[in-house]
Amino acid sequence: MSDVLCENCLTDTQAKLEASRCLMCDDPPCVAACPAQVPIKHFIRAIRFDNPRRAINLIREQNVLAGVCGLVCPVDELCVGACAGTELSTPIAIGKLQHYAACTELRCGRSGPAGPADGKKVAIIGAGPSGLAAAAELAKLGHVPTVFEKNPLPGGICTYGVPPHRLPQELVAGEIRYVTSLGVRIETSAPFGANHTIDDLLAGGYGAVYLAAGLQQAVTPGVPGEDLDGVTTWKALLDAFSAFNFGQGDKPVVPANVLIVGGGSVAMDAAGAARRLGATEIDMLCLEAPCEMPAYHDELGEAWKEGVRFHTRSMPLEITGEDGKVTGLKAVRIRWKEPGKFIPANAEKIDGTEYWLPVEMVVFAIGARPAPEFANALPGVKLDGGGRIIVDPETGATSHEGVYAGGDATSAGGTMIVKAVAEGKHAAQTIDAYLRR
Ligand SMILES: Cc1cc2nc3c(=O)[nH]c(=O)nc-3n(C[C@H](O)[C@H](O)[C@H](O)COP(=O)(O)OP(=O)(O)OC[C@H]3O[C@@H](n4cnc5c(N)ncnc54)[C@H](O)[C@@H]3O)c2cc1C
Ligand code: SF4
Repeated sequence: MSDVLCENCLTDTQAKLEASRCLMCDDPPCVAACPAQVPIKHFIRAIRFDNPRRAINLIREQNVLAGVCGLVCPVDELCVGACAGTELSTPIAIGKLQHYAACTELRCGRSGPAGPADGKKVAIIGAGPSGLAAAAELAKLGHVPTVFEKNPLPGGICTYGVPPHRLPQELVAGEIRYVTSLGVRIETSAPFGANHTIDDLLAGGYGAVYLAAGLQQAVTPGVPGEDLDGVTTWKALLDAFSAFNFGQGDKPVVPANVLIVGGGSVAMDAAGAARRLGATEIDMLCLEAPCEMPAYHDELGEAWKEGVRFHTRSMPLEITGEDGKVTGLKAVRIRWKEPGKFIPANAEKIDGTEYWLPVEMVVFAIGARPAPEFANALPGVKLDGGGRIIVDPETGATSHEGVYAGGDATSAGGTMIVKAVAEGKHAAQTIDAYLRR
């Protein structure tokens, strides 16, 4: 058996050496910075003393997607960023150690301890990070969770969003196997909401419902030309790319010249997918200056390396076309009306700076919102102006008794995998208390 499960994995020797550098801080800043509150110094100590099984047990107790988060968590903003403030000249590679522990476990094919399953039935909508974390915790607490997932495969954005060159799908599938080994049932290709509501679930024997449907509709800016052939969104592109990789669809047709509109992590993934689908010239246009872009530093570095051309502090005006097909995009330079507020409403066009980029495809990667029709299935659940579910941040409770929510679908939730996981776990504990009241 090879020493490593995937190319991103440390070897046993590298992991032990890295773990031996940890200062075992008394009040570890790395843990304070981790949304899932993983006991970092304890799992690092377990790796150091050659006990990766104990390491993964400690991590999974707090984070069921240990390996995924080890690989794609924005660690420089979280645990590693906090570790950089210690006396170490180079912070500990915490993400890599966590990923190593998860891969070592998956290599051994270990499953989780199934709970006693003497509790209540709980329905979970969405098998993304938040739904999976809630389901795993409820199963551990003795309940019987069933996850309803509209896609053919579970995993949410980890399966149908983050492209496989960043997140190996064997790892995602392995962590989902761990969740099901706890006694979680996942019904795939089972969209919730078209013909039933949360009240039907509660009347049908479920003691509580956890809503974790994420954001299902990509946003576009509403400029002329959006109906032209060749205009798409990050969601359509990445969904089609994933489906193709899973053998569930044809290879998406991507021309040589592609323009991505957006400057965040999702735009970077859209660029990476376009490149792998055949685009040779990729431009990226966004409102922000390079230092203001929401994408993480290493993602930007990767995009530069892959030859992406950036058009910053720019706003799209119109997509031009011929015979119904995209020929380019007209844009204009902007300045911020109020400094430090990087939102479209704060952008002011600079007259006389209009320009045109010749491209064959435009991909909007400027955000997402919940599918509006989903609201019909949630009578009595209060939503904010953007259609996101309003929850009590302490408990995950919605305005409907017995109904909880977390992850990207809520007004204050999600935004990264580890946060969606932490919210799912936390809500599961509140649901447990509610069911045992
Ligand atoms: C392209 C992209 C890349 C990202 N990269 C990173 C990264 O590198 N690191 C990071 O930390 N975060 C990243 N994020 C953010 C992260 O993926 C999300 O914050 C996280 O996935 C949110 O989890 P969730 O469970 O709330 O929602 P999702 O992951 O969106 O899962 C929701 C699930 O609900 C299902 N669903 C929706 N409607 C229904 C319905 N009606 N019935 C049944 N099921 C339904 C969906 O199919 C989906 O499986 C990225 C996001 C995107 C879009
Ligand atoms: S902050 Fe760094 S050195 Fe301190 S316990 Fe955490 S990983 Fe170890």
